[in-house]
Amino acid sequence: MFNKNTLKRMFKTHSWCTFSFVFLCSFLAISSSLPAQNSLSRISTVDRSDGKGVVIRYHFSEAVDSFEVIQPAPDLVQMVLYGDIDTTGIQMPGYGEKVNQVILYKQDYGFGVDIYLSQDFSYIADAYPDQNQTHLLVGLTETDYNELDAYSQQFIAKNWYENFEPQELPDPVSITETGSTTTITDSYNPVRDKLKFDKIVIDAGHGGHDPGNLGYKKSAQEKDVVLSIAKKLGKYIEENLPDVEVIYTRETDEFVDLWERGSIANRAEADLFVSIHADAFTSSSVRGASVFFLGLDRSDRSFEVMKEENQIYADHEVVQDLSEEDLIVYELAHSGNIANSERIAYMVEDQLKNRAQRKSRGVRQKGLVVLYQSTMPAILVETGFLTNPAEKRYLTSDWGQSLIASAIYRAIKQYKQEQDESYSLKATSAND
Ligand SMILES: [Zn+2]
Repeated sequence: MFNKNTLKRMFKTHSWCTFSFVFLCSFLAISSSLPAQNSLSRISTVDRSDGKGVVIRYHFSEAVDSFEVIQPAPDLVQMVLYGDIDTTGIQMPGYGEKVNQVILYKQDYGFGVDIYLSQDFSYIADAYPDQNQTHLLVGLTETDYNELDAYSQQFIAKNWYENFEPQELPDPVSITETGSTTTITDSYNPVRDKLKFDKIVIDAGHGGHDPGNLGYKKSAQEKDVVLSIAKKLGKYIEENLPDVEVIYTRETDEFVDLWERGSIANRAEADLFVSIHADAFTSSSVRGASVFFLGLDRSDRSFEVMKEENQIYADHEVVQDLSEEDLIVYELAHSGNIANSERIAYMVEDQLKNRAQRKSRGVRQKGLVVLYQSTMPAILVETGFLTNPAEKRYLTSDWGQSLIASAIYRAIKQYKQEQDESYSLKATSAND
């Protein structure tokens, strides 16, 4: 006899067979709606017994209403789990050598999932219900990297950040404009405005006749990649930190002199200068993100590294006229900024590592011209290697750029909160 469950099961089985030949693209198991809330208590990973991959298991109490799986990059599997899903007390897998991390994102329609795979393996993903029909399984099977890379190009990654945490909006005016504590008079405004974090300069590297590096097989231009990351970053800040003014050194594909970039920031009296770049190397296997802040190691290489990043200015007389002594004097004069630069650099690195899942090459000090010129905390973010095929795909994709921009944004938000808290303390003591 056919009851509803039998039919449902048959339909699911049928769907599975029909779609199995395209099982890696997208799979939707449609079922009648179940009134009971589904709970997802655990996500676990286990190596396959044949040693050729990994299985990820979603421990659902009921069969999930429907799901979808895509693989927009060799090292990123994304899933949509539809339905009313309770994840209270869920156990998530920790960092694994093969499956680096699984992250859930609450959406209106259920959950989005990012599954970050190790770049040292080449796994193709495939999702299907477990035999008992309540657990959902994701099979990761070893495959040829080039095939996987070609296969993943058909997908456009989903951006779970489209609704960008509006509930986390800070209240930008609560310190100065509420109740009896509002005793800061107008005469304090210039001081207040200098202390409060309310202006940022975003510097997209290169531009115009200077394309920056040209990427893997000369298939990308650094100037384009960094401009769109810079604009996304600016947009996140404008939308979520409305009291912060965003100033760009360039908003179009134009050439801006390195020294001019620094003076734009100085004229604006900004609170932070963030320069965005993408790296290149002769070997395509080198990858990862680095964050630099101004500083000198006082070694003979100080001038070399300055010229390295600013190659086309290697002949700039001002660069050559700077003595080691000049630089040390500068460093001493800006030691407060250097400490803050180091602070924000580590925040950005942490976000790139944990939020955007980038391999980190660490935080380093460097005597870069573009940073040297600015009289405020300044960092330079090398977002990844355009010469590495996987990172090139990530950095040239809308989702990759959004993740990088949102990672930097989060670090800036955290840094701003710290700065504003210390401003608030100073403002309070000024009042006493
Ligand atoms: Zn660059």
